[in-house]
Amino acid sequence: MPSNTTSANGSKTIILWFRKDLRLQDNAALSTAVSQGLTIIPVYIREPQEAATGPLGAAQAWWLHHSLTALSASLEKLGSRLLLRSGPAQEVIPALMAETGASGIYWNRRYDPNGIAIDKQIKEAYCQHGLGVKSFAGQILHEPTRLKTGAGNNFRVYTPFWKAFEASTEPPEPIPAPQAIAAPDAWPSSEDLKDWKLVPTKPNWAARFPEFWTPGEDGAHKRLAAFIENGLAGYRTLRDSPDKPNVSMLSPHLALGEISPATIWHATRGLTDSHSAEDVIHFRKELIWRDFSYHLLFHFPALRNKNWNPKFDAFPWRDAPEALEKWQRGQTGYPIVDAGMRQLWQTGFMHNRVRMITASFLIKDLLIDWREGERWFRDTLVDADPASNAASWQWVAGSGADAAPFFRIFNPVSQGEKFDPEGQYVRRFVPELKDMPAKFIHKPSEAPFAVLKEAGVSLGKTYPLPIVDHGKARDAAMAAFQGLRGE
Ligand code: FAD
Repeated sequence: MPSNTTSANGSKTIILWFRKDLRLQDNAALSTAVSQGLTIIPVYIREPQEAATGPLGAAQAWWLHHSLTALSASLEKLGSRLLLRSGPAQEVIPALMAETGASGIYWNRRYDPNGIAIDKQIKEAYCQHGLGVKSFAGQILHEPTRLKTGAGNNFRVYTPFWKAFEASTEPPEPIPAPQAIAAPDAWPSSEDLKDWKLVPTKPNWAARFPEFWTPGEDGAHKRLAAFIENGLAGYRTLRDSPDKPNVSMLSPHLALGEISPATIWHATRGLTDSHSAEDVIHFRKELIWRDFSYHLLFHFPALRNKNWNPKFDAFPWRDAPEALEKWQRGQTGYPIVDAGMRQLWQTGFMHNRVRMITASFLIKDLLIDWREGERWFRDTLVDADPASNAASWQWVAGSGADAAPFFRIFNPVSQGEKFDPEGQYVRRFVPELKDMPAKFIHKPSEAPFAVLKEAGVSLGKTYPLPIVDHGKARDAAMAAFQGLRGE
């Protein structure tokens, strides 16, 4: 294998392996390579689907296609390119090293169990080689090993994690994007993104996604600026209202690393002149939830597949494919649940409050294993994230670290009335109920016949009757849980 090969300008060459860091700004691996005067071969590898973190979902595949397109264009503006290769990284990297004579590999670290295992193998294989392997931080605010309890253990509970975070040093300042990237004398071949078939065609269920999203680094920065301008004021209270524009919707950009969490963190610094400190602090606390989820995944790599609390291994989940499908399609007869599931299907996103309500409904009203929900969200969310998705599902199920107690069972009617009091969110995603008065929009099955008729609703025909009685379902869930306790 050739090593320490130099390009015509005399500089050494490295492979810059892009993974969940599809950005030029605050990209430590890229900036370091540029500052060292290296010739850089940027590559993105389509790795085989992984068992422990789960396959790439269809909605995120759509996002990835557009994000790679955007990254490629940005690299070209700086005189570089993005190579695309497919296959196990343990094979693709050595082939590319041999082909280009690169003497090192740089990347930003990832923290999912498969990614770590692969990176370790490559690191071991190349640590003695030329410039070796250099890895950098940047996917989360602090490395998952950095914060420890007073007793030196890993955290299981969010609040002490957050306090330790607050007591720690600030996340590093973001690094500006480089002005130019040194290219090799000759470019190795690249696969064609179109051949990866990441975007759906027949049917094109993502046809409306561009109305809601602009994948890529520029889109991420515009989204951040718009949120600070229009959404951050009132965040603490209004973040729970699904019909209000007071959440950032930055999660899909973060999921593929188009913007670093440190960039977001620092963008909210010094805003207390124009914004309430409570809003800023609360927003930052949510970013820290993301770090906490990675802390959990890092220290409990089976988070997606296994109950954190093994007591839940004996939970008597129902095998109920019909009910599961009604939940997936937004046909449960509970308007807030159906609105959430349809928002997910139509836009690839669901508001956080509604994620909690729909997840609680699947687990506690339908008694379906939380892993079914995790799988569906992973396939349909543009922000699907191995840490946040698994940790959040286990949080709702009660099986996770620092989870909501199982007996906290959301009532989908009162949750709807509390967080969507006028029913605007429901009207948007469940148009067959758009003319229902606010009083009954969250409980059409309790509306008098005349009200239904006036609103053009025929239960069981234009909109489903509830697939379960929430009161009875709640009792059944509690009985199942008590059974666990009796073990
Ligand atoms: P904002 O309110 O603007 O928050 C800013 C950022 O903080 C988010 O972009 C996100 O990165 C982070 N954040 C906010 N809330 C949480 C949280 N509860 N846990 C972890 N990080 C958080 N988030 C994902 O990014 N990917 C997932 O796959 C995912 N699956 C979820 C599944 C369930 C069942 C639940 C209840 C929550 C899930 N979340 C997931 C967490 C949360 O719902 C989303 O991060 C949030 O809705 C994203 O919207 P936003 O960017 O507007 O959030």
